[in-house]
Amino acid sequence: MANIHYPVLAINSPPPPPPPPPPPAAEPSKTFQHPVTGKWLTAEEVAALKAWALQKGKSMGIGDIDELGSVIDYVFAGAIAFEDTLHMRSLLQMPRIRPLWIRRAITVNRQQNAQACMAYLCGTITPQPCGPCSRGAGPFHECVTVNGSLLGACASCHYGGEGSRCTFHLGSKSFNSYLSRSIFGC
Ligand SMILES: [Zn+2]
Ligand SMILES: [Zn+2]
Repeated sequence: MANIHYPVLAINSPPPPPPPPPPPAAEPSKTFQHPVTGKWLTAEEVAALKAWALQKGKSMGIGDIDELGSVIDYVFAGAIAFEDTLHMRSLLQMPRIRPLWIRRAITVNRQQNAQACMAYLCGTITPQPCGPCSRGAGPFHECVTVNGSLLGACASCHYGGEGSRCTFHLGSKSFNSYLSRSIFGC
């Protein structure tokens, strides 16, 4: 019995010291406006959202909930992570007009994927799906393009960096024959 040590109860002990201030380079007081929701975020929240979007091996589907939100929050985190790309900047200027309707879980840790998800939310459904979409390839249920963005490719093909295989990609041979078919009606 001699060597039993009971924990000391800290009833009257002073409060713990405050945590050390973050390094000045992080500008802890600076806030950022969420480019999609408009909500004001602290630098720490922005960093957490970026890290969430860039997490390797992560994917989310409809109905999945993470501690930082649902799949649409995850897509918006991808928008924050790749906000500095030209495609993303132009996509963020556009209103989002449709819900995310996906065939399978998506990941936004690559810039093309994050751009594709945002393009899907604000683009136009093509009158006829492109070749890959009509075969059920790509993560989105509808074939959606954004005028003047993604080099003409639909969101599903742009996802995964496969935009050049899209019928509507500006460099695609099938796009040029599609154009002549449309123009000449054959
Ligand atoms: Zn398509
Ligand atoms: Zn396509």
